[in-house]
Amino acid sequence: MLITELKPRETILPLLAGKKVFIINCHGCKEVHFPEQEAAAFDRELAADGQVTGVLTTDYICNPENMKLRLQKHKSQIDAADVVLVRSCGVGVQTVSEYLEDKIVYAGCDTYPLPGHQGVTPQEYKCDQCGECYLNITGGICPITACSKSLVNGQCGGAKNGKCEVDSNMECGWERIYRRLAMLGRLDVLKCPVQIRNYATDDEVNQPAQSN
Ligand code: SF4
Ligand code: SF4
Repeated sequence: MLITELKPRETILPLLAGKKVFIINCHGCKEVHFPEQEAAAFDRELAADGQVTGVLTTDYICNPENMKLRLQKHKSQIDAADVVLVRSCGVGVQTVSEYLEDKIVYAGCDTYPLPGHQGVTPQEYKCDQCGECYLNITGGICPITACSKSLVNGQCGGAKNGKCEVDSNMECGWERIYRRLAMLGRLDVLKCPVQIRNYATDDEVNQPAQSN
């Protein structure tokens, strides 16, 4: 299982500045401890600025088939948005990102570990609950699970013909990230300063406290 915590406002607000946003909140796994009140207050603030094209609050967005049907109902609101903000665990964000492949999809939460099962599609989209979600700078592809070395600063340089040097049966995760960022016209994010990983977030004693 897992727990989610909203990313800090100062992290999310610059991503949304001047943009129209469609928001998806996933209330699927109750143990996730979805920060409902905090999220609702943030949504009202964005709506007051006229930025929100729609809000979908649903469950189990990690189920691709259900999620596709729900997103189709909101197609016009999603089309009107520049970006989609997803508040869920890393599996849910990756599921939406894969489906809305021509949209910029941002993760609104960090995901922390608890022992147990995560998501209903763990074989398709993986999240290692690293506590410091990188999906916003990797085009919605998890560098922790898509790269054999869990590199967060870019490719190791060992890939051959697009295949990972550790496992030649898998695509190099960082080549996938590069292609996706290129498709979205977001290669500039790779010029950002080196992302220093805070490994303290891997420690379960550092999980956010549950209040309900
Ligand atoms: S970067 Fe990957 S492992 Fe970390 S929270 Fe995001 S999806 Fe999960
Ligand atoms: S080849 Fe790619 S996926 Fe494999 S370890 Fe290097 S960067 Fe990671």
